[in-house]
Amino acid sequence: MGKIRIAFFDAKDYDIESFNKANVDDRYEITFFETRLSEDTVKLAEGFDVVCVFVNDSIGAKVIDGLVNDGVKLIALRCAGYNNVDIEHAYGRIHIVRVPAYSPYAVAEHAIALLMASVRKIHKAYDRTRDFNFSLSGLTGFDLHGKTVGVIGTGKIGRIFIDICRGFGMNIIAYDKYPAKDSGIEYVELSEIWKRSDIISFHCPLTDENMHMVNDDTIAMMKKGVVLINTSRGALIDSNALLRGIKDRKIGAACLDVYEEESDVFFHDFSGQIVDDDTLTRLISMPNVIVTSHQAFLTGEALANIADTTLANVSEYFENDVCANEICYHCEKVGSCPQAHAHKCF
Ligand code: NAD
Repeated sequence: MGKIRIAFFDAKDYDIESFNKANVDDRYEITFFETRLSEDTVKLAEGFDVVCVFVNDSIGAKVIDGLVNDGVKLIALRCAGYNNVDIEHAYGRIHIVRVPAYSPYAVAEHAIALLMASVRKIHKAYDRTRDFNFSLSGLTGFDLHGKTVGVIGTGKIGRIFIDICRGFGMNIIAYDKYPAKDSGIEYVELSEIWKRSDIISFHCPLTDENMHMVNDDTIAMMKKGVVLINTSRGALIDSNALLRGIKDRKIGAACLDVYEEESDVFFHDFSGQIVDDDTLTRLISMPNVIVTSHQAFLTGEALANIADTTLANVSEYFENDVCANEICYHCEKVGSCPQAHAHKCF
C-alpha cells in the first residue's frame, strides 16, 4: 500500500504542529481541514483512507454512510470520548479507533486548577491587581483540607484527581458504575454523593443514562454552597438547571471546562461578536462560574501522545488484524464484543 491518506478535520495550529512532528519520514499523507466533519463537509473526505476527528465533529448516521460510500475505511478519533459518533450505526460499516489515554494528568490537574482558582477567587484577584486594585474585600475563600469531594467516575483521570485531593487532606467519596476493586476508595450511591459532597467532580463518560445527571432534582439534594467541576462532558449537567441553582444561591461555584452546547462556540474566537447562546453568556456573567473552553487536555505531553497514538492506531488498522484501541457498539456493553482487542471488532 502507498502512503495512507488522512483527512484531518477541525485542525488547529497546535494539532498541525504535533501531527507533523509525529509524522516521521512523511509516512502518512495528512491533509488538514479547518472545518469540522459534518453532513455538510463529509464530501471533503472522498478519496481518503482515514478521517481523523475530535470531540466536536459530528459523526452521525448520514456522515458514516457518506464516508463509507466515499471509500473511507477508518474513523480515527484523536480523543478518548466518542459520544459524538453513532457507534451503533458504524458497526459493520466502518471501524473506529480512539486514543483511550494521552495524559490523564493533564485533565486531572486542570480540574484541580479550576477548583483552586474558584475557591480562592484567583480569577477575581488577577483582574483586580491588573487594575491596581489591591482590595481583599469579597475574596474570602475556604480551605480544601477536611472538605468532602465526591468523584463521579474513578477511571484513569478520576483516580489521579483523587490522589491529588488526598494530598490536600480532603475526604474522598466516589461513585462509579463499575467500582474499582481493592482501590481503597470509599464508593457510595449517587444520592450520597449529592448529599454529602462539598465539591463534586465529574470524570465519567457521557452516556444516554447519565445525560443531565445534574438537574433540578439532584441539585435540590446537594449541600448549599457546593462546588461543581466538570472536565468530562457538558451534557452531564443540565445547564439551565445549573443556572437556576446558581441564581437560587444553592450552587457555590461552577468550574466548567465543557458545556453541553459547546460545539457551536468552543475553539473559536468570538471576541467582538455577539454570542447567541443566552445560557452560556448568563453562566459566564456569574462571579462564581469559571469557564475554560475544553482545554483540560491541552498540554505539550498530551498533544504529543495524541499524535503518536493516533498515527500508531492508523498503522495498526492497515497492517494488522488486531486493533488494540478499536471501539465498537458491542465493546461499549462491557465484554459483549466477541472480537474485542483480539481481532478487529468485525
Ligand atoms: P476511563 O474510561 O479511564 O474512566 C471512566 C470511568 O467512568 C470508568 O471507571 C467507568 O467505569 C466509569 N463510568 C462509566 N459509566 C459511568 C456512569 N454512568 N456513571 C459513573 N461512572 C461511570 O476514562 P478517563 O480517561 O478517566 O476519562 C474520563 C472522561 O473524561 C472521558 O469520558 C471524557 O469524557 C473526559 N475527558 C475530558 C477531556 C478534556 O479535555 N476536558 C479530556 C479527556 C477526557
